[in-house]
Amino acid sequence: MSFSPPVYRGRFAPSPTGPLHFGSLIAAVGSFLEARTQGGEWHLRMEDVDAPRCSMAAADAILRALEAFGFAWDGEVVWQSRRTDAYRAAFERLQAAGRIFPCACTRKELADSALTADGAMLYPGTCRAGLPPGKTARSWRVRVDAASVAFDDAIQGRITSDLAQAAGDFIVLRADGLFAYQLAVVVDDTAAGMTHVVRGADLLTSTPRQIFLQQCLGLPTPAYAHLPVAINAAGEKLSKQTLAAPLDMLRPAPALFAALVFLGQQPPDELAQADCATVWHWAKTHWQLRHVPQQLALPMPTIF
Ligand SMILES: [Zn+2]
Repeated sequence: MSFSPPVYRGRFAPSPTGPLHFGSLIAAVGSFLEARTQGGEWHLRMEDVDAPRCSMAAADAILRALEAFGFAWDGEVVWQSRRTDAYRAAFERLQAAGRIFPCACTRKELADSALTADGAMLYPGTCRAGLPPGKTARSWRVRVDAASVAFDDAIQGRITSDLAQAAGDFIVLRADGLFAYQLAVVVDDTAAGMTHVVRGADLLTSTPRQIFLQQCLGLPTPAYAHLPVAINAAGEKLSKQTLAAPLDMLRPAPALFAALVFLGQQPPDELAQADCATVWHWAKTHWQLRHVPQQLALPMPTIF
């Protein structure tokens, strides 16, 4: 018997730094509906690789909220904090291939560096040709020469990134000994056989780095769709930092309805008063990715 992989395997991958809020619900709803309407699998991954920022209580709260909202996922939840061995193996492959180099620079030493589009420091290349005498490695960076990365996003269209200018030599092993988020995501998506990544456009600047790492490691690149992110009245992305209100788990239907409105699906008005199962039924029979607005950010709806 021959093994045929599923045509579609997608995921929702929250960081457990706080409870599920409307911003993260958007990514859950979009990735779930796209997977299900394609007859695909939908998996759950806790992106707790940045252990100091994450908590088990937040992860539990997210899982309970997803259940209260009626999401059903395939397989076991994957925890990045338990996958260090897989990240180390990928790191060693990059090392063996000469794609990464040790870096001795402290944050303070890099403070005068130019900034990337998302506000990180653009590495000036200090340790590229070897550690300066007397210095020891703090972190490891991947060498990004004149790499141009392009991909077709199913919502945002053609994206082209000059990685040397947009990100520079970026960190794969941090000074605190943790593997970097970008490496973890790439390793996990491949290990789980992800074919499609539907997530918030706040991660659009990470995608070229992830595709570059896939290329360095000889891994497949999934299809990408970046949903608009919800912003508040002050124009800030909804997050724990901007004090986004947690979702009301006793009344999930209004938030679910609002998520469909936000994603351009135009649910009928009477659905606003319906129960959760009715909203899901409508959503699963009407979802169209092509109706999602081609926007990086949109104001949060005020209808619930
Ligand atoms: Zn350095």
